[in-house]
Amino acid sequence: MNHRVILPGSTIGVLGSGQLGRMFALAARRMGYRIHTFSPDVDSPTGQVADVEICAQYEDLDAVRAFARNVDVVTFEFENVHSATAEAAAECVTVRPAGQVLHTTQHRLREKTFLSQHGFPVVPHATVRSEADLSTALVHLGTPAVLKTAGWGYDGKGQAKIRSLDDATAAWKNLATHEAIVEAFVSFDRELSVVAARGIDGAIVDYGAIENAHVNHILDVSTAPAGISAQIANAAREITHAVLKSLDVVGVLCVEFFLTRSGELLINELAPRPHNSGHLTIDACVTSQFDQQVRAVCGLPLGSTAFIQPAAMVNLLGDVWTSATPDWAKALAMPGVHLHLYGKTDPRSGRKMGHITATASTVEKARELALAARSSLSR
Ligand code: AMP
Repeated sequence: MNHRVILPGSTIGVLGSGQLGRMFALAARRMGYRIHTFSPDVDSPTGQVADVEICAQYEDLDAVRAFARNVDVVTFEFENVHSATAEAAAECVTVRPAGQVLHTTQHRLREKTFLSQHGFPVVPHATVRSEADLSTALVHLGTPAVLKTAGWGYDGKGQAKIRSLDDATAAWKNLATHEAIVEAFVSFDRELSVVAARGIDGAIVDYGAIENAHVNHILDVSTAPAGISAQIANAAREITHAVLKSLDVVGVLCVEFFLTRSGELLINELAPRPHNSGHLTIDACVTSQFDQQVRAVCGLPLGSTAFIQPAAMVNLLGDVWTSATPDWAKALAMPGVHLHLYGKTDPRSGRKMGHITATASTVEKARELALAARSSLSR
C-alpha cells in the first residue's frame, strides 16, 4: 500500500464537479488544502469553491495527465468516470481510492460478482444480454423484478420495474442497452446505509446505520441513528468494514442495504465516495464524511464519527422551485435547521439542488423538523 501523506497546503485534484466534490472541497479548504476540479462543466458546484476548475472531457487523457501532474493526490466525487481516466491520472500521481475500486463499483454486474465471490449477501439477480436472457431470468427470479443497466446508472436512471412476464419485451426495449442486470424485487422492511472511511494504515471508522426513504428511486429522507436493533446495526457495520477491507479502499465508501421483513441484510449497492445519506454528518457529527474523505485521501488519521445530536436530512430537488423561489427565511427561522445549496442554477424536476439537515434531541424530532422546514419553503 502507498503510504504517502499529503499535508495541508498541498493540492488535491477532484475528478467530477458536482455537489459531493463541492462539500469535499469546502472541507479540504478549511483544512488548508488547495482544490483543482476536472469535469466537462463550467461554473460547476465544485468549480465555484475550487482554486482551479479544469473544463475538459474525461476521455481527453492528455488533459487528465496534465491535471494530475499539477496536484499532489487525485480523488473522485462520482464513480461514473471511465477507468482509463483514473489510470491516466495514476500514471502521474497517487489516486485514492485506487482506480480498481472505481472499476468494480461503477458496473452493477462487476460489483455484484465481486460481492458474491467474497461471500457478501446480495439481492438474487441475473445477467441480461438479450430479451431471451431476461425471460429466462424472470422465470427463476419471479416477478416483480427490477431491470437495471449494468453501467452508468444512478438515482433510478436506467431502471425499470417489471411487474409481470408480459412487461419483459417493453422493459428490455426501453432500457436500450446491451448489458443489464435483473434483480428480484425486495419487499424490504426498510433501507439502510453505512458510510465508512478507511485510512492508509487500514484503520476503519463508520457512522453506524442510517435509515433512508426513497421517492421515485431518489433518496428523500435520511435519519440517524436508524430505528433498528443494535444487533442489526452492528451486523450492517461489520459487513461494511469487511467490504472496505476486501476492496482495499483508501477513502470513504457507503454500503446501501435492504433490511428484509425477515431481518436479513442484503447489499443493494456500493458507492466508493461520500454518500447522500451521509450529508447529515456535516451538521450532526464531530467529523463529517467529507472531513473524513480529506483525512483518508491525504493519509492523515481518521476523526471521531460520534454524533453530537440525532439528525435528519431531506433532499431539495428542483421540484421545490416549481411555483416560486423557496422561502428560505421561513425554514432558516427554525432552530436546529441547516441549509445546504449546491450552487446549481437550473432547478429541473428530480435534480438534486440542495438539502436541509435538522438536528434535535431525538431522531423523531429531527425528522419532523426537517420535513417541516422543507414544507415551509413553498409559498
Ligand atoms: P439503486 O439505484 O439501485 O440504488 O436503486 C434506487 C432505489 O430503487 C433503491 O434505493 C430502492 O428504493 C429501489 N430499488 C432498487 N432495486 C430494488 C430491488 N431489487 N428491490 C426493491 N427496491 C429496489
